[in-house]
This record gives sequence, structure tokens and C-alpha cells, in this order.
Amino acid sequence: MSFSDVREQEVAKKLVRNMVGSGRLAHAYVFVGPPDTGKVAMAVNMAKALNCEAGAGDPCDACRQCRLIDKGIHPDVHVLRPRKASRTISINSVRELQRRISLKPLMGIYKVSVIVEADRMMQEAANSLLKSLEEPPPGTIFILTCEDTSGLLPTVLSRCQRINFMPLSQRTIESILVDEKGLDPGRARVISRLAEGRLSVALAYCDPDEIEWRRKLLDGVSEAADVLGVFNESGRLIDHFNRYRKDIAASIKARNEGMDEEAVAARAKGLLLQEISRVLSIYMSWFRDVLVAKVTKSDDLFTNMDRVELIRRTAVSMSTGDIIRKIEAIGEIAVKIDGNINRKIALDVLLLDLHSIPEGEPCSR
Ligand SMILES: [Zn+2]
Repeated sequence: MSFSDVREQEVAKKLVRNMVGSGRLAHAYVFVGPPDTGKVAMAVNMAKALNCEAGAGDPCDACRQCRLIDKGIHPDVHVLRPRKASRTISINSVRELQRRISLKPLMGIYKVSVIVEADRMMQEAANSLLKSLEEPPPGTIFILTCEDTSGLLPTVLSRCQRINFMPLSQRTIESILVDEKGLDPGRARVISRLAEGRLSVALAYCDPDEIEWRRKLLDGVSEAADVLGVFNESGRLIDHFNRYRKDIAASIKARNEGMDEEAVAARAKGLLLQEISRVLSIYMSWFRDVLVAKVTKSDDLFTNMDRVELIRRTAVSMSTGDIIRKIEAIGEIAVKIDGNINRKIALDVLLLDLHSIPEGEPCSR
């Protein structure tokens, strides 16, 4: 596997190739970008390129160094990942890494430590790593990867050179779905658009149940409804969220024996908020499409490619100002939802807004 096997990311590849080729290296890097964009593959390839016996810039894939790194058994290249159950990186793992890099390189030229999802380091683990970043042993390079940097200590971040990874293009996701997952091109096109650059989202939508769930959600905001219909829809959503929180708490408990109730509840709440924001982003995608339909005749910019006709019809029936107000309403609730608000009432109000039903309108049934 070489740099060319990392999909897209031409800017990041050029930067890494230049640094390896010129030998102008930082002690630490942070690769930042969405999941599935090749951050870890790039880090491992950088480790190979730095230690490759062919020394040509790109790893040769054939020498002993390259082969051992590919197999994950090179004594100077370490990849540290969060523990599966807790999804955290403990201080003990960081200490073990530090012990290994305190030794002289055993066979390579550089000792490379890749810390995957570095924002999952516990506070004391991050503080311990900071010491190594402040005084790195000679010939040591750290590569941290994360989706965004908000979970990293600013002191850790400031010691790393940042390299950004971009979401995958629709075309790349489409070809993965067709070539590797065997989807027909039409379905692959619809799903790749929904994924918005995230391969994991695209793969989740390969499950017909997921697509059905999305369809129902969109029906809930795109089809005409009266007050009663709106309240039923928000009730359905609240039921879904309650079930989701219960299931997720049970699975966290099962995976983390002895974890106290408060910690389980806190983690379940975090995941519930992610689920709520997923729902809101699906609503958002609908009204963004309607707005796009107002300003362009081309269907290429739509996210919901399977609803082109309905998007066009809806756009005719709404003013641009009205669409923007709905988009703003979704944005506002997305900010408020993790606070202490009553979610049922908030969803009732939002859905009334999205259906242009004034609050206080009597039920028609
Ligand atoms: Zn090599």
C-alpha cells in the first residue's frame, strides 16, 4: 500500500511527500478530517516512506521495513488506538508507548507513533503525551489523527503541525458502492449524495431499513399535515429517541462492566444528542434542497436525489424567505437541544414551523 492507495487527498499527499522527500520534518503532526478519509493509511505510509530502504520518497512496499510496517509488526512503528469497549486511550497505553520510544530505533531510521482518534485520550493520558511532545526523543515522530480538534488539549495541538483531510467526493463514494459493494449505479448515485462525503454514512444507507427510516422522516416534513398530524409525528420521534437512549444505555452497560450509572447516563446522553442532530440534519437537507431548487434548474446539487419532483413542487409553493426561516428554525433548535429544554414541546414547535402552521391553530379533526 502506498500513498496512491489513499483515496483523493491530493493536498495532504503532496505535503507529506514533500516533507519526507526534503527531510524537513516536524516532531508531531495532527491529521484532521472526517472518518474514512485515509488519515491512518496516510500515517502508516508516511512511517513506511520514512524508513523505506529504497529511500525514493514513496514507500517501495517490497523492502523489509515496508513489509513489517504493513504487517503491523515493525518494532519502531506503533499504532495506538482507543480501547474498543470504552473508546478511550488510557494513560497506561500512552506510558507503554513512551517506554518503547525511549529506546534507540531497533531496525528503522525513525520511530513513528500513530495515535488514532487522539481526541479519545483521557486527560491524564494527554498530559503525559504532552511531555513527550515537549521533549521528543531523537528520531521520533508522532502522528495524531482525529475528526476535529476540539477534543485535544490546546497545548498538545500547538505542538503539532496540522494537515487537513477533506470529505470524499460523491464520485469516489459512488464508485466504492458500485465496485466494492455491488450496488446498481442508480442506487449508488442516490446514496452517495445522501452521504455528504462520509463513507460510513453511505455504507449505513446500503441497509434498506436505514433508507426507509430516512424516507419516513422526510415524509414527516415534506407532506402536508395538520396540527394533529404534526403532534403525531413529534410523538413518533420522541418515542424513537426514548427507545434509542434506553437501548444505547443498555449496550454501554453491557460493554463496560462496573461503570457507574452517572457515567452510563452521560455517555448515553451524548450519543442521543448525536442521533437528534442526525434527524435535524436530514430535515435541513430537505429544506436546503428546496432552496437550491429556487435558484437553479439543475438537479445535480440536490442531496435527496430520489425526490427531485417533490423538491421542485415544494419550491414552487414556498417563498425564498419562508424556506430560509425554516432552515433557521432547524438551526436554532439544533443549538438549544442539548440544554434543559422540553424536547417534545421543542419538536412540536419546530414541526409546526416547518409545516407553516401558526401556533395556537385549532385542531381540524
Ligand atoms: Zn520499502
